[in-house]
Amino acid sequence: RQEQFRALRSVEPVTRDGQRIQLLMNAGLLVDLPQLAESGAEGIGLFRTELQFMIASTMPKAEEQEMFYRNVLKQAGGRVVTFRTLDIGGDKVVPYFRGHEEENPALGWRAIRLSLDRPGLLRTQLRAMLKAAAGAELKLMVPMVTEVSEIRQVRELLQKEVQHLSRFGHGLPRKLQFGAMLEVPALLWQLDELMDAVDFVSVGSNDLFQFAMAVDRGNARVSERFDPLERPFLRILRDIVRGAARNKTPVTLCGELAGKPLSAMALLGVGFRSISMSAASIGPVKAMLLGLNAEALTKAVDEALDDRNATVPMREVLAHFAESH
Ligand code: PEP
Ligand code: MG
Repeated sequence: RQEQFRALRSVEPVTRDGQRIQLLMNAGLLVDLPQLAESGAEGIGLFRTELQFMIASTMPKAEEQEMFYRNVLKQAGGRVVTFRTLDIGGDKVVPYFRGHEEENPALGWRAIRLSLDRPGLLRTQLRAMLKAAAGAELKLMVPMVTEVSEIRQVRELLQKEVQHLSRFGHGLPRKLQFGAMLEVPALLWQLDELMDAVDFVSVGSNDLFQFAMAVDRGNARVSERFDPLERPFLRILRDIVRGAARNKTPVTLCGELAGKPLSAMALLGVGFRSISMSAASIGPVKAMLLGLNAEALTKAVDEALDDRNATVPMREVLAHFAESH
């Protein structure tokens, strides 16, 4: 099967009924980059910048960050790279950067919250990204946004860095795309404002599922209790895709869900046309979608999601569709 997937590398990801799907990979270190070509991913949908921080024994300096991003972009060879600003705190611990002990770290001082309280850290990172991408395309996004005002604040900081660099005659990215990760359920009721405030949205389904279902993602005893393919979560995802379509905002999803063929199929069924996963999943997911009739799938998924008397689990509905098509 490995061989079979390898053969699909250069095959365009188009469903049987002509829907073009963007398959991206997740990454976080330079060693991940060769997998872009090996897997045939179109680009990187999630680059976890905190990994550079997590493997270092001291805070990476501005120049080190810039050099790192420059190398990533160089090795990506023109394929899109979506950098995520620091997502530390919660389950991601950086030894030399300690906040106070927290009773609920997942709900605590993390990601964008920490970034907005330590703007020096964030501005250093934004500046390093802008410099590294001079003359190229820079795509970046911010994790764990709860209120739209937060993302507006980051955008202002980014604008300041752009002005600062241009004032000092630095080259700037040829194109800049700014996005938010949708991981906190509160954003579901701010979808239109959110889409106005960003160029794209990326669903972090690991965290969104954790917060939507109130299950600790690291606690197998409860995290496996509920199925992300069951109606509540799939309806949430469908609402997001609809909100994005209404606002003509590009939307992607970069959590673990995208990496399993049946779950990836469910994502296509609720309307996603771009998903990001581990490099190893690109082949299996592509093999799945090449044989897929996306229109028939959407119809089957909508029917099953809208049926308020439904008793058949969604996973069975999906598996049945996969078998019969
Ligand atoms: C997510 O939450 O789904 C996600 C992609 O980010 P991480 O797993 O790094 O929290
Ligand atoms: Mg997350």
